[in-house]
Amino acid sequence: MFMHLSNDQLLDLDREHVWHPYSSFLTPSPTYAVERAEGVKLYLKDGRTLIDGMSSWWSVLHGYNHPRLNQALTRQADAMSHVMFGGLTHEPAVRLCQKLVELSPEGLNKVFLSDSGSVSVEVAMKMALQYWHSVGQPQKNRFIALKNGYHGDTFGAMSVCDPVTGMHHVFADNLMQQYFAERPESRFGEPLQPQDIASIQHLLETKKDVAAVILEPIVQGAGGMWMYSAEYLQAVRNLCDKHNVLLIADEIATGFGRTGKLFACEHAGISPDILCLGKTLTGGYMTLAATLCNDKVSQGICEGEAGVFMHGPTFMGNPLACAVACESINVLLEGDWQANIQRMETQLKQELKPCNTLKSVADVRVLGGIGVVELHRSRSLDELQPAFVEQGIWVRPFGKLVYIMPPYCISAEDLSTLTQGIYRVISKLKP
Ligand SMILES: *Cc1c(COP(=O)(O)O)cnc(C)c1O
Repeated sequence: MFMHLSNDQLLDLDREHVWHPYSSFLTPSPTYAVERAEGVKLYLKDGRTLIDGMSSWWSVLHGYNHPRLNQALTRQADAMSHVMFGGLTHEPAVRLCQKLVELSPEGLNKVFLSDSGSVSVEVAMKMALQYWHSVGQPQKNRFIALKNGYHGDTFGAMSVCDPVTGMHHVFADNLMQQYFAERPESRFGEPLQPQDIASIQHLLETKKDVAAVILEPIVQGAGGMWMYSAEYLQAVRNLCDKHNVLLIADEIATGFGRTGKLFACEHAGISPDILCLGKTLTGGYMTLAATLCNDKVSQGICEGEAGVFMHGPTFMGNPLACAVACESINVLLEGDWQANIQRMETQLKQELKPCNTLKSVADVRVLGGIGVVELHRSRSLDELQPAFVEQGIWVRPFGKLVYIMPPYCISAEDLSTLTQGIYRVISKLKP
């Protein structure tokens, strides 16, 4: 007979054998067992309930255990859970790709499906490299990325992450060497200042081996939670055109409404040549990512020496994930997501503002469904995580950054519990 583990047994075995993200077996950080989740609530095995401020790392849009997503999943499981994508195709994948082309910025009309955000970034980088190889300029084989950027943990993706927080020195001999531009200092809503663009402009004018610029449009996520001027994005698009360099937009965190537009690129009215999507793609149900490109890129690749794009994951286009992704997009578009994000933005601005008066706080910033409180100095998870749990909220800070991006369906009351909990915990910190 199947016997459940007790909470203590589970946590003991976990500490013994299970790697968690960025974790150590010598100094394990506090870990909590979740038994089930519903709406915006996580139900812990120890009987406590937490309001989820993280959307399980930007991915949950409509809340946990959503009846329509559950149904899409089980319906597809009854038909087929998986089938290889080489030489075979199916309706969930075709429908999803068609939807993504329809919704994403203009010009993007080819879709490569893969398993995770990092892989979609690898795919985007390979597309750019293969494009320049195909059109007879193989010397264009390096990337410009922004400081404070985050693009994933695989080798290619890691090479374009912030060199300091991405711990480049640990992998110094194994990482491709890329160029890093300063992040723009002008905030979202502010006009661009000449010094914002100076660094990337200088790189584009002096380096002749650049294949593409890769950036997170409007919001830099895990690398700094920084929201920057939309005019910067326009300027970078123009510079890329001027210097004949591709633009890769990594919307793995910002896609599907989080910033108040369906895609963050829309704030600047630009289209990238290549777009990465992930995290929210299945509404947080399972892992799936997509890399979109325009005709210029796809034709260049297909007319080249290799003749085909050289990538093909085993679980490419997984039907379960595609079916859930289609339904998640339907739920999003049928609901009033814009009003929801607007409501969250207003409330986050109002309720996080008092944090600004606290001595340990350096900055408070809000855009769309994202609220950030930046502290003066880094704090350990051990200091903060249990305190948040005591407040009944799930907030996972890192370094100096305490931030939330709850599911869009969160009620005003639950959102207040989150913001008040954050205020209480931070107000007790020693400066
Ligand atoms: C999370 C994230 C990734 C990596 O996605 P994974 O699914 O964790 O591999 C890449 N880029 C951005 C902007 C992200 O937020």
